[in-house]
Amino acid sequence: MKLYSTKNEDFIVDLEEAVMNSLAPEGGLYMPSKLTPLPESFWANFYKRSFQENSYLVCSHLFDGYIPEDILKDIVYEAINFPAPLVQMSDSDIYSLELWHGPSLAFKDFGARFMSRLMSYFNRNNDNDLTILVATSGDTGGAVATGFYNTPGIEVIILYPSGKVSHLQEKQLTTLGKNITALEIDGTFDDCQALVKQAFLDEHLREKYRLSSANSINIARLIPQSFYYFEAIKQLGPIDKPITMSIPSGNFGNLTAGLIAKRLGLKIDQFIAATNINNIVPKYLETGVYEPKPSIATISNAMDVGRPSNFDRMMALYSSTWNDVKKDISGAFYTDEKNKEILKDIKTQHGYVADPHGALGYQSLVENKTDTVKIYFETAHPAKFINVMDETIGVGMTPVPERLAKLRHEEKTSIELGKEYTSFKKYLLER
Ligand SMILES: *Cc1c(COP(=O)(O)O)cnc(C)c1O
Repeated sequence: MKLYSTKNEDFIVDLEEAVMNSLAPEGGLYMPSKLTPLPESFWANFYKRSFQENSYLVCSHLFDGYIPEDILKDIVYEAINFPAPLVQMSDSDIYSLELWHGPSLAFKDFGARFMSRLMSYFNRNNDNDLTILVATSGDTGGAVATGFYNTPGIEVIILYPSGKVSHLQEKQLTTLGKNITALEIDGTFDDCQALVKQAFLDEHLREKYRLSSANSINIARLIPQSFYYFEAIKQLGPIDKPITMSIPSGNFGNLTAGLIAKRLGLKIDQFIAATNINNIVPKYLETGVYEPKPSIATISNAMDVGRPSNFDRMMALYSSTWNDVKKDISGAFYTDEKNKEILKDIKTQHGYVADPHGALGYQSLVENKTDTVKIYFETAHPAKFINVMDETIGVGMTPVPERLAKLRHEEKTSIELGKEYTSFKKYLLER
């Protein structure tokens, strides 16, 4: 499998380099060079196969013999070991794809579990530890922490914005210990992301560390996220109508994975990029002007991103032609106030407890009047945002899964740092 850099199409690497280095020179992102439609044989038994089987076949098509098939099959089967149920909202034409059935209760478990196993395979003959740096706006940290916990030869350092992730999200990344370290940064998610990006470009640090990243900029996170698009369409069964999918978005990894699935031949007719008031991409889709901004805190905090890191990948798929992008993707964005109304509506109309991220996807489908079957992503379990949920739909109305409830009593361990690069670097050098 070959990949190119979004900053230079002639810069080509193989999969191992793309996964282990994460970023290409000058901040380029890796994209698969070849996205050809899956063969007829894949579709012949598509509806009969398990989630794992279809995922393995999609992955094998992409990897194109790059790693031995039996090993690849193990990696996929271990990573994709929980379901992604498609739930119809009453008898409407709207479905929720629940992506929160994994260990950290967010879709990011798919990417983190797949990446940890793939990296572990690539690292198998190395004596030096690999250090993974990852910035989180909330959910990445928990998924990466559980996904990499106890992985031999891999250290994980998670940066999160102090006071800007929910209490339970914080517990998910600060209570494991062992090879997982949490840095509590006095700044925003964008500050955390900037620190990670700068560290990668720092030759001085790279003398001491073999660094890699687990953010959605890593192609190993993105690839498995395309698998559940196939799973959604499979569960729907053969239908004649076109399909619209709405993706609650922040860094746009999920949506980009959907665009990749479409290139592989999956029939998705329209995408909706649903955001909170960090509406950089919906604005771009509307006006053709891309204008990153500092992020603004909202109740859908995992989408508080002012400079979406996968934007360049989306552009690469459309050769940066706004008119082409617009044909496949439209945008929608909502305020917190509206979000709370939506959460209540979903509960009243469907008896369903959505989360503050998924709710925005749902609403964009309600407002979409096309004659299509509509699917939105429930990107995390609502109990991860229990304060917002209690305040909005009422205390005790949101079921709290056992694995989340028990975190309340566990003790947080974090290292507090300022947002200046110098203090982060000093910490890393003295570690
Ligand atoms: C990460 C996350 C998102 C945003 O996903 P992107 O792939 O970064 O666009 C949305 N919702 C939840 C709950 C998340 O954790």
